[in-house]
Amino acid sequence: MRAPLTEQPPRLEIRNLVRHFDGRRVVDDVSLRIMAGQVTCLLGPSGCGKSTTLRMIAGVEMQDSGEIWVDGKLVCDTIFRVPPERREIGLMFQDFALFPHLSVAENVAFGLRTGTRTEKRARVAELLERVDLIQFIDGYPHQLSGGEQQRVALARALAPRPRIMLMDEPFSGLDNRLRDGIRDETLSLLKDEDTAVLLVTHEPEEAMRMADEIALMRGGKIVQRGAPYNVYTRPADKAAVAFFSDVN
Ligand code: ADP
Ligand code: MG
Repeated sequence: MRAPLTEQPPRLEIRNLVRHFDGRRVVDDVSLRIMAGQVTCLLGPSGCGKSTTLRMIAGVEMQDSGEIWVDGKLVCDTIFRVPPERREIGLMFQDFALFPHLSVAENVAFGLRTGTRTEKRARVAELLERVDLIQFIDGYPHQLSGGEQQRVALARALAPRPRIMLMDEPFSGLDNRLRDGIRDETLSLLKDEDTAVLLVTHEPEEAMRMADEIALMRGGKIVQRGAPYNVYTRPADKAAVAFFSDVN
């Protein structure tokens, strides 16, 4: 019998992550749980430790202490470590560019390690349909606008069906006019995939628009967490009020 949903472990759980640089605690006892299908935004000002947290989850940075669990299995502590390429994580960064010499289809297929040619082709076409770029399947990145390239990058990250999507300020390189539309499209695509999303941003507006849960970070610590509306209307302290009212 299948276990009821409430008994499933979180897709991603981090416990008490700590990382120092030059004797300074830049990530200070951070814990988070994200269920499959959920978007959590790690929101906070520049330099508060968001990207470092993400890099430890991706496995490209090592924590000084703390644990990372995926679907109830230990992925990394200070002794045991699953290498980054076996963590089934999709990545999307602001400057995580497409490969210019590969076609759109080849870019999307890049992370697909398993499956026959036909299966890969079908997955690529399915994703390009969903980001509404199927007409560019044999085109090249330079023929696309910034927003279109970003959607191809999203399709590429989702192609191998990652358990977890890590997104670090993925929309900050985009034109203001495009951003809202792409945020909404990205969200609807992510919601259709069985993945847990951790999205890093310094923009309250972006977190309000995209998150199921916001984790507000400052000085390496998570200072508040909750549904966007609750965090926004009941900031935990004066610094949180100031952060939300600041026009970034
Ligand atoms: P955020 O993504 O929230 O802007 P980061 O995680 O990039 O913050 O950085 C947190 C702090 O750690 C910053 O003060 C940054 O300068 C410092 N830092 C990040 N990476 C390194 C590194 N490789 N060496 C030294 N200091 C670093
Ligand atoms: Mg950063």
